[in-house]
Amino acid sequence: MQAGVTAHHPPESLLFGERADGTIAHISDVPSGIACGCRCPSCHRPLVARKGDQMVHHFAHHGAGDEHACQSGPETALHRFAKELLASRLALVLPPLQILGETQLSMREPYRFDAAVLERRMGAIIPDVILRRANRDLMVEFCVAHACPANKIAKIEQLGIAAVEIDLSELAHRASRQELEDAILIQSPRRWLHNPKIARAPSGELQPAPARFVTRVDPSIAALQRAYLSACREVQTMRVRSLGPSRIAADGLAHAIRVEVAGLGCFTVGPADWQAAILVSALDRALAGRSGLVSTKAALQQLRERDQLRTRFSRLSAAEAAALRSALPTFALPKAAIADWAMALSRQGILVPSSARDQWVIRRETLQLVREARQRHAGSVKVAASAPEPFKSRGRF
Ligand SMILES: [Zn+2]
Repeated sequence: MQAGVTAHHPPESLLFGERADGTIAHISDVPSGIACGCRCPSCHRPLVARKGDQMVHHFAHHGAGDEHACQSGPETALHRFAKELLASRLALVLPPLQILGETQLSMREPYRFDAAVLERRMGAIIPDVILRRANRDLMVEFCVAHACPANKIAKIEQLGIAAVEIDLSELAHRASRQELEDAILIQSPRRWLHNPKIARAPSGELQPAPARFVTRVDPSIAALQRAYLSACREVQTMRVRSLGPSRIAADGLAHAIRVEVAGLGCFTVGPADWQAAILVSALDRALAGRSGLVSTKAALQQLRERDQLRTRFSRLSAAEAAALRSALPTFALPKAAIADWAMALSRQGILVPSSARDQWVIRRETLQLVREARQRHAGSVKVAASAPEPFKSRGRF
């Protein structure tokens, strides 16, 4: 875990913290610093979120040098994140089944479940997650450091319940939330630890999976999926392209951008750019005494004019959008991505939802903080003594 340290890579690569309510937060979900309110999922010491511009965003143990990082923190945290993610998404790509020595049924589309239970005892074992659809159960084991031992597999076989193991050992600890979600639910290597249908078939003549375990993907949808995943990878490695993010940082709102939401692949720029573009223009309008409204409709229009929307994903048919949404948990239409981001900002107390659907307003306190930050930057110390006036000099900063 200590290999590969570079100037831009923290020596401690803890991407998850445990919130006060016991749930797991990704680094992208929390505000910077001790305000993240998280503890280490392994040793329970308080964490600080380090979300600067120089290093990959990560958690560090509060008050400890990075060299004192606890060794099992990242593993424990990834394991817990995977369980909570699966339980909340209820969808998983299953491993292929071999049939008569040929290759298998393609199952790149996630199989959907009705319910999930975490860590409930089944006979002699406690699987990480039990997924249920109708009256069938599937056990899921996540392997981060150690593969499922043979004696556990023997116990699973005795229970006669299908079980899948997902190998997370290759996941780079710097992975973004979206990469992690895709890896866990779709792409990481996975295998059947046990499948009663296979076990019952005579050897060499394996039966196909029961019909509802098998789904086939329409080739045009498969191409769209590939295009979307590659768009996601592209924007994740992209540098900041506009001045918006540094303006937002100067306004003291760096935590309001780079928010990871589903749908990031629908944009031609990274989340910092498009989120800053929307927020800067709303702040500028509000500080000029006009409306500080953020609406998905106006934001879409603005991003379209700036060429920040990928045409292919902003003009999908309803059927294509539905197929993509059901296949890829990380897909959402641009308008849903903008709405998710605005909701995240509402939870952070930066925006307030308006009574109209898909509209938010900048919270008064946020506006006051930004006004003060801009006045400080302008060096207008004398203004501070009197009550701040609405700032009219838009465009100067
Ligand atoms: Zn720790």
